Amino acid sequence: MSDSTDSKSQAEQMPPGGKYRVRVIRDKCIGAGPCSAVAPSVFELDEENKAVVISQNELDDLKLLAAQSCPVSAIVVEDIETGEQVWPKS
Ligand code: SF4
Repeated sequence: MSDSTDSKSQAEQMPPGGKYRVRVIRDKCIGAGPCSAVAPSVFELDEENKAVVISQNELDDLKLLAAQSCPVSAIVVEDIETGEQVWPKS
């Protein structure tokens, strides 16, 4: 029976939403909006036209792509397990 456990994909062992966590540095955000266009299930603009994270439950690649689309690098992507900052690269 351990065979089936061993063959489980990594994705099944990951927390919901993958291994990346995103957050918005509110002071940096200029409300340009590509993040919410790229990943509308993750980012939304609030009443002050600042991006807010509404869900982490999205593919890592999409979260990273949205962060990379931000013209002012206001979106930080972190590896949940290691705490390492994936984006922006320092
Ligand atoms: S892309 Fe960047 S600046 Fe534009 S709304 Fe999103 S976080 Fe703010």
